[in-house]
This record gives sequence, structure tokens and C-alpha cells, in this order.
Amino acid sequence: MKGHIKIDVNLCKGCLYCIEACPSGVIAVKKTFNRAGYFPAYPQFPEKCTGCGMCATVCPDIAITVYRKKEADRHGK
Ligand code: SF4
Ligand code: SF4
Repeated sequence: MKGHIKIDVNLCKGCLYCIEACPSGVIAVKKTFNRAGYFPAYPQFPEKCTGCGMCATVCPDIAITVYRKKEADRHGK
């Protein structure tokens, strides 16, 4: 299973729960702050995402959307 995530920068409060929760080390912290003055999370290594959904589950601000794709779909099967 492959996945990718989108993080709404301006919903993120920089709690870093998603970084701790991600088993694949996908997420890191941006060096620039958002509108609210927090340093938000972003997918630094998106190619490692399995779509497991752990990051979205732990995010208290519902800032993360997870998209999943079966490997076979990428080859049109
Ligand atoms: S869906 Fe899973 S692998 Fe992908 S970023 Fe979130 S916790 Fe990490
Ligand atoms: S868990 Fe949500 S609010 Fe916390 S750093 Fe990650 S995206 Fe931002």
C-alpha cells in the first residue's frame, strides 16, 4: 500500500504528535512558521508513506488528510 498525506499548514499547532506516531519517518517540522506562529509539520519524505493513517489519528487538530493507493493501481491493474 502506498499513501500520501496533506497537512493543512494553518490548522497545525506544531504539537509534533504526528512525527512521533509515524512509523515510517515521513514527517518533519518546517523551519518557517504558519499564520498562527507555530512551526508546522510537513511530509519531508512523502515517498516513504504507507497510508497507515496513524498521523491523522493522533492529530488533535484534524490537520492531516491521508490518501491511500494500492500498489497495483499504479500499473493500471
Ligand atoms: S499515513 Fe502513516 S506512513 Fe504516512 S505519514 Fe501518516 S503515519 Fe506516516
Ligand atoms: S499532530 Fe497535527 S497539529 Fe500536531 S504537529 Fe502534526 S499536523 Fe500539526
